[in-house]
Amino acid sequence: MKFNRRKFIGATATGVVALSLPKISVGLPKISVKDPPIPFDPWIEVDSEAIKYNIRQLYSLSNNRPIIAVVKNNGYGLGAELVSQILQDSPEVMGLAAVKAESCLSLRKSGLKKPILHMGMVTDDEALDLVSNDIQVSISNPDSPRQFTSIAEKLNKPVSGHIYLDTGMSRMGIPYQKAAPIIENLLQNQKIQIQGAFSGLTEDSEYDREQLKRLKDLNGKIKSKKLSMGVLHMASSQAVYHFKDSHLDAVRPGMSIYGGYPTDGQIEEKMGVLKVGFKLKARVVRVEQLREGDSVSYGRKYVADKPTWIATLPIGHADGYPRNAVKGAKVLIGDRLYPVIGAVSASHTILEIGSEPSVKIGDVATLYGSEDPSVNPNHISATIGTSIYDIYMHLNPKLPKKLV
Ligand SMILES: *Cc1c(COP(=O)(O)O)cnc(C)c1O
Repeated sequence: MKFNRRKFIGATATGVVALSLPKISVGLPKISVKDPPIPFDPWIEVDSEAIKYNIRQLYSLSNNRPIIAVVKNNGYGLGAELVSQILQDSPEVMGLAAVKAESCLSLRKSGLKKPILHMGMVTDDEALDLVSNDIQVSISNPDSPRQFTSIAEKLNKPVSGHIYLDTGMSRMGIPYQKAAPIIENLLQNQKIQIQGAFSGLTEDSEYDREQLKRLKDLNGKIKSKKLSMGVLHMASSQAVYHFKDSHLDAVRPGMSIYGGYPTDGQIEEKMGVLKVGFKLKARVVRVEQLREGDSVSYGRKYVADKPTWIATLPIGHADGYPRNAVKGAKVLIGDRLYPVIGAVSASHTILEIGSEPSVKIGDVATLYGSEDPSVNPNHISATIGTSIYDIYMHLNPKLPKKLV
């Protein structure tokens, strides 16, 4: 059986390709025709069991609140279609949410059956497309009721949506202090069916309480008119962990679904452990020995003080691996960790191997994963001084993905 690149990308762990590697001696890449040509280039393995496990953890952390799973920005770098396939089967997930219209549409077109919430602004054309594809829209500004009423008339079907409220983030949504009359009108408009109302927290522990109070007061005002805004949701990953009162009717996490702790990880691990939802891998393309005085990469930041073996991985900052990785990140090959040295360039990363050539061309390297705490993305982000959100969100969307 022959495996081309496409088959490799789509293959599952049970597939024949599951990383049986060509046997190659150091410095002499000889890939025999019988071996499956697994690319040297980087790829992502999405771990469906880990993601399902995290969903159950978040469900129990929020005292069994249904989850609106945020899959924006290409599913936090892991592939929106791939992760939505996993979330489709999770009973704890009541729906998915994304910020770009195009991303909501491609999820629906990929066959996703659960409700999808679009959390952004739309043109009339996008609104027509979203509503035709049964995607819930956001009533995010005072003009939205007019816009969606005309869409409902055009399509001759009611528009389904959530009210997006600004309680203090000053980013998106109808300012809470102006919202009551708009909502009262909206809830009597037969052409727009309101499923819920939501807001985002600033993640400032004191101000979060004030924001929650603003949402609850507004909800009280609406209820006193015998009207209902439906499902109230406010909590992202950080609030699922740290602000129980904000869990309301549903929670709306993103990052933690994929295994990233929203803040420093150490506190959160004590509250509910997550599993890293993916692995970032590539294969060694070069193994060489430096002489004393030889330097590595742009800027010559690393100079060997004795004969030292090094290895090159064909992955760099253009793939989303951070330039800051030289500030202490390590890469796992076999059961050993090797430090990143010199500089991370656009397409290459260089590792210090040591006095013996303990790795060879073709070996699989894990840059992010769960096999060792040192390659856990939260550990790496803390070590190199970058945000966990950047680690996930900067993964190049073109990286091939494989469900394991
Ligand atoms: C990104 C986002 C979330 C999820 O945030 P995490 O910190 O990734 O859990 C929730 N709500 C809105 C509106 C968002 O944009």
